[in-house]
Amino acid sequence: MRLSFHNTYARLPPAFFERLDPSPVAAPRWIAFNRDLAGLLGWDDPGLGSDEGLAIFSGNRVPEGAEPIATVYAGHQFGGFVPRLGDGRAILLGEVVGRDGWRRDVQLKGAGPTPYSRRGDGRSALGPVLREYLVSEAMAALGVPTTRALAAVWSGEPVYRENVEPGGVFTRVARSHLRVGTFEYFSARGDLPNLETLTNHAVERHDPEGAEAEIPALALLEGVILRQAGLVAHWMSLGFIHGVMNTDNTSISGETIDYGPCAFLDGYDPAKRFSFIDTRGRYAYGNQPNIALWNLARLAEALLPLLAPEPKEAVARAEAALDRFAAGFEEAWTRRFAAKIGIAVPRPEDREPVLGLLALLETHAVDFTLAFRGLADALTEVPERFSGLFPGPGVVVPWLERWRQHLRSRGIQPEEAAETMRRANPLFIPRNHRIEEVIRAGREGDFGPFERLHGILRRPFDDQPENREFAEGPEPHEVVSATFCGT
Ligand code: AMP
Ligand code: MG
Repeated sequence: MRLSFHNTYARLPPAFFERLDPSPVAAPRWIAFNRDLAGLLGWDDPGLGSDEGLAIFSGNRVPEGAEPIATVYAGHQFGGFVPRLGDGRAILLGEVVGRDGWRRDVQLKGAGPTPYSRRGDGRSALGPVLREYLVSEAMAALGVPTTRALAAVWSGEPVYRENVEPGGVFTRVARSHLRVGTFEYFSARGDLPNLETLTNHAVERHDPEGAEAEIPALALLEGVILRQAGLVAHWMSLGFIHGVMNTDNTSISGETIDYGPCAFLDGYDPAKRFSFIDTRGRYAYGNQPNIALWNLARLAEALLPLLAPEPKEAVARAEAALDRFAAGFEEAWTRRFAAKIGIAVPRPEDREPVLGLLALLETHAVDFTLAFRGLADALTEVPERFSGLFPGPGVVVPWLERWRQHLRSRGIQPEEAAETMRRANPLFIPRNHRIEEVIRAGREGDFGPFERLHGILRRPFDDQPENREFAEGPEPHEVVSATFCGT
């Protein structure tokens, strides 16, 4: 089987990576293989979904043409700088140019120790593999830029965490694995030649028109800023909490990457955080735009020497670029949230009713997803689906009045608004308590719940009456208050 790998990253100077093969696992078994995604990559050999693919996606066989490497990067973790992190449990097999013309990385996660593993074992427990598979594919179905899940394999080996857990290997597909932390690595070492090489590589991959710009590093910085602003606004509009927005988890491509302690809001609460190590709420839902900007400032700092020969001039250019984040975020946030209340072509004045509704959701701790989904019904046939989420229907009457008035003043018909809302407001999100159920069963070797949830999350905007219970929030005893890092 020929998989046509490209290896442009492995062609960069040796300072960028270490070459090594994945470590084999004892007794791999399939959990999931993403045929649609494989097709997009141009990989439709049926052997890929059977034994040959199993050998590849467990790390037991390096496919012909791949040049496996672990890449190096640094990063600010919870605000503190770590000068050398790198792929401690991930191995890049290579790049593939898909049917759509895009180049993507194919990476094994949990494929054994690398020179960057520090005290880690380079392995993944099954739980994080299932979580990343489900949540990244759900994000893709929701239309959010994200890394994708190509395969999940049961390794047949135990891994030792707080408990002994079954191990797994996850195959991740990404537009690239370049992160803010990759730039910080070379910048912190004062390695200008490699910083420039990295920048050129990133420009070529993610901002090709920037290659013609007067200052390619500035074009890249501006590109990353706009992508991140749009991405985080998209997260916010779905109630998504990334959970560990360290600079090594902030992608240059603008994809959501690293589904560790991530979660979706049930009741709306801007201060909500899930990661049990995020004791101060640095990565709380409502703080995500601030943190994205903070991370982008670290990228700007790393790029300073390439922005202008004069430090003062470089800082001025960096600041001007960072200043664009606020407007980019606000534009994207307004567009996303206006659609959520039925307005397809937003105006600044649409923010007022959105903020009014969010304040009500917060006061009454109402489920974010169900409230927005129910809103379309408030205009038409089943108003209780919305008002019934609040303690007493009277609570929402004044807001509903103002909103209907706002839509009328904007000349938007109820049916048109409902249509816009049904496209913007999913019914099915990967709720934490459902993922926990999947993981509990998976640990026992039962992947039925995984299959079912995966099937539901592929169509998040469809009503699916037979799966209605999967739309509901957790019962009090099912609430998951903390998620653990995917290590
Ligand atoms: P994360 O928080 O998942 O983004 O990981 C942060 C850093 O820790 C990265 O450099 C990972 O490669 C590394 N790491 C996480 N888990 C492991 C593990 N089990 N073995 C080795 N390195 C790990
Ligand atoms: Mg990471």
